Amino acid sequence: MSQLFAIALHGGAGTIAPETMTEEKYAAYTQGLKAALDAGYAVLERGGASLDAVQAAVMSLEDCPLFNAGKGAVFNSTGGHEMDAALMEGSTKRAGAVAGVTAARNPVQAARTVMEHTEHVLLSGPGADQFVREQGLPIEGPDYFFNQFRYDQWKEAQAEGRVQLDHSEKKMGTVGAVALDQSGNLAAATSTGGMTNKQYGRVGDSPLIGAGTWADNHTCAISCTGHGELFIRSVVAYDIACLMEYKGLSLADACHKVVMDKLVKTGGEGGLVAIDQAGNIAMPFNSSGMYRAARKSDGTENIAIYR
Ligand code: ASP
Repeated sequence: MSQLFAIALHGGAGTIAPETMTEEKYAAYTQGLKAALDAGYAVLERGGASLDAVQAAVMSLEDCPLFNAGKGAVFNSTGGHEMDAALMEGSTKRAGAVAGVTAARNPVQAARTVMEHTEHVLLSGPGADQFVREQGLPIEGPDYFFNQFRYDQWKEAQAEGRVQLDHSEKKMGTVGAVALDQSGNLAAATSTGGMTNKQYGRVGDSPLIGAGTWADNHTCAISCTGHGELFIRSVVAYDIACLMEYKGLSLADACHKVVMDKLVKTGGEGGLVAIDQAGNIAMPFNSSGMYRAARKSDGTENIAIYR
């Protein structure tokens, strides 16, 4: 097969401030991104499906404590973890998602299981937790999700009575991936711990199909990161697909319009990774940085944090 294949991923649009970024930290984040890129790309390289590739990449990021998803998920207002995840297959437009799961080791795997083993798209809260247990998916206790850095972040946010995006101040977290496989199929996946000190029960854009996650072979696959409430209100991922489908915009132009113009006007800070069927990749963000990486079968590769 000679079809171009490619993967792009993000580890959140909230990067730690450049002045506090040390060489060691930079290397650690870059390594985390590269490991996820390798995991996803390996699936594509052996002819696997884009859905499996994005799941593999996101699971790798969920297992890395540096990113706000899975093991590195931030604390909510009650000192617990409520994680959201979704994935979508571009060839069939099938999708699965979970919101507010508290114990799944890999929420994106739970989302995949919802897609494949229920007639539903989104399960939430205690019902989703129960589903994870019944399906025999790996679960973890609070010790696994405990992280001193996140705990201190939460205590700080709690003391100031604010809800905050990852990494304090204007920082965000979340992980996600999009891919194009050798059969020409697109897929997207997103996973997040949400926002530090978020209200119990709060659901962000990540598990909402069309807001934070989208894949359709005819247009694009998208995974978002940023201030969830504003991404929900702007239906960001689907808006980009619509600009492509109904207005004929290119992937790059549609992404630019939504992230650098429409979102900026609403104060929606963040970014996304996107791919189309020709293997074009866009990774726009209107925040100061976004952990991101991409690799194509033509040999191009890009791993970056700041502009
Ligand atoms: N979009 C995520 C949420 O609002 C957070 C993030 O991307 O940082 O839950």
